[in-house]
Amino acid sequence: MSTSSNLLKIAGATVYDPAHGVNGEVRDIWIDGGQIVAAPADPAARPATTLDAAGLVAMPGGVDMHCHIVGPKVNAARRMRPEEKRSPAAALHARNSPPGAEGGAIRSGTLGSTPSTAATGYQYAGLGYTTAFDAAIAPLAARHAHLEFADTPCIDRGCFILMGNNHYLMQAIGRNEPQLVRAFIAWLLRATGGFAPKLVNPGGVERWKSGQLATATDLDTAIDGFPTTPRQIIRSVARAAAELHLPHPVHIHANHLGMPGNWNTTLETMRALEGHRAHLAHIQFHSYGGDATKAGTFCSAALPLADYFNTHENISVDVGQVLFGATTSMTGDSAVGHYLSRLHGAKWFSHDVEFEAGCGVVPIEYKPKSLIHAWQWAIGLEWLLLATDPWRIALSTDHPNGGSFLAYPEVIRLLMDRTYRADVLRTIHPRVRERSLLASLDREYSLSEICIITRAAPARLLGLSRKGHLGPGADADVTIYSPSANAAEMFQLPRYVFQAGRLVIENGELRQEVFGKTLHVAPQFDPADEAPIARWFDEHYSIRFRNYPVDESYLGEHQSVDCVQRVASATECRAT
Ligand SMILES: [Zn+2]
Repeated sequence: MSTSSNLLKIAGATVYDPAHGVNGEVRDIWIDGGQIVAAPADPAARPATTLDAAGLVAMPGGVDMHCHIVGPKVNAARRMRPEEKRSPAAALHARNSPPGAEGGAIRSGTLGSTPSTAATGYQYAGLGYTTAFDAAIAPLAARHAHLEFADTPCIDRGCFILMGNNHYLMQAIGRNEPQLVRAFIAWLLRATGGFAPKLVNPGGVERWKSGQLATATDLDTAIDGFPTTPRQIIRSVARAAAELHLPHPVHIHANHLGMPGNWNTTLETMRALEGHRAHLAHIQFHSYGGDATKAGTFCSAALPLADYFNTHENISVDVGQVLFGATTSMTGDSAVGHYLSRLHGAKWFSHDVEFEAGCGVVPIEYKPKSLIHAWQWAIGLEWLLLATDPWRIALSTDHPNGGSFLAYPEVIRLLMDRTYRADVLRTIHPRVRERSLLASLDREYSLSEICIITRAAPARLLGLSRKGHLGPGADADVTIYSPSANAAEMFQLPRYVFQAGRLVIENGELRQEVFGKTLHVAPQFDPADEAPIARWFDEHYSIRFRNYPVDESYLGEHQSVDCVQRVASATECRAT
């Protein structure tokens, strides 16, 4: 009999691994170091450690593909919500690791809708999530974001880089210079340690910054001072991302977020892609019917958008589910921050990032008796129940915009239990109760479908071949749950969580603080195309070109994900 000093065997778990067609089969999972490995060929081989998981449910670690957890706007939110941080329950107290654990002390921190760095990592691990992507980092803020990532334990991480209102890019798009567009996107992703291009209200933030109403125009109105339109930005960046073979396509926060009647803009955004792959973020916030000039007409337009989505495989979405309660909205969409502050009379933070982006932060409370909030809650669920392909829709609350990521178990229960869903529906604004499609949608998600929308699909949509599955070569991120008839109870307190093969959570307790890695890309471009970018910096920026790129030393442990040719549709990714 041979015993490996590293081998860990998770024995007899009921395994969900939809990427490999495994749907609740009793199996063993073998881990060597930080990776999943095949069972040893030698039947006499013995693992150094065996974890008896009989009767427990095992899935890959959760992957959050759209949240806001690092960088200046998150810090602004932490500073402007002292009222959230004052109760004893909002404080996380430092302590030493339990005896036998490998890690050092667990650090102190604060909780609330925008937890401090260490608390964010601990809370994700406690929820069974082992990877998270911040969805909106201004290039100038990338250094700050990476420093906070390096201080956020227990998760692998990455970030999307804001470029939908970037002056250099809008000029290059308007001049119809696709090679320079491609080169700039490649250069910017490398310079920032970023993972994907992010568009936030393309062109509209610039409009708002220059004193115009971002809401008053459509995708084909030129942006003042620039020879381009929102539609051209969307189409050009989607095409460039495809040509650069980025693992994740362009990630789009569409124009007119939150406005009644914005579903038309969302549909036009989908059409503007002209078949290129794209991910539309927090689709719930972009699926509204009604007339902006007539109060009370706000309603759902999830059905026509879901119909289009279901028949266009180049598009993926995350939901941006709203949960009732208090949270903090934060966005690169300055115009939305301004709008919300006036709507709610709430305190407001706004920040202009030179030639690149904007930012708005506003506290918000979603109330079940509010017509608009009740619709927002219903529309997210309508999307999840109307989307026919779970591989193209990911669970998100756009943390913390629609609610904390800690609300995912509640959303899972709403999806898996139609009786519970009907019970909650009865408590919300009566007009939404009567008019929402929810009352007629009987669908209940299976555990396998939950596994897809919370880890397998987001990993695949991000192009992360080592995440979201349990095959040999996968990162050993494994979450083990105690099954329960109440899905919220099952998912909010995993029994064991492994990150890169290291036991982080056991029986709801944090066992050790470990650190993950930063995932980024390094797409190729012609170095000759860097010269005009350097000139642009010297002529316009407050920071010198040579000081702008984020040195790799800021990234902590990191891994460059390859830019290689991928299939054209989000669905076909399944076969890769
Ligand atoms: Zn977001």
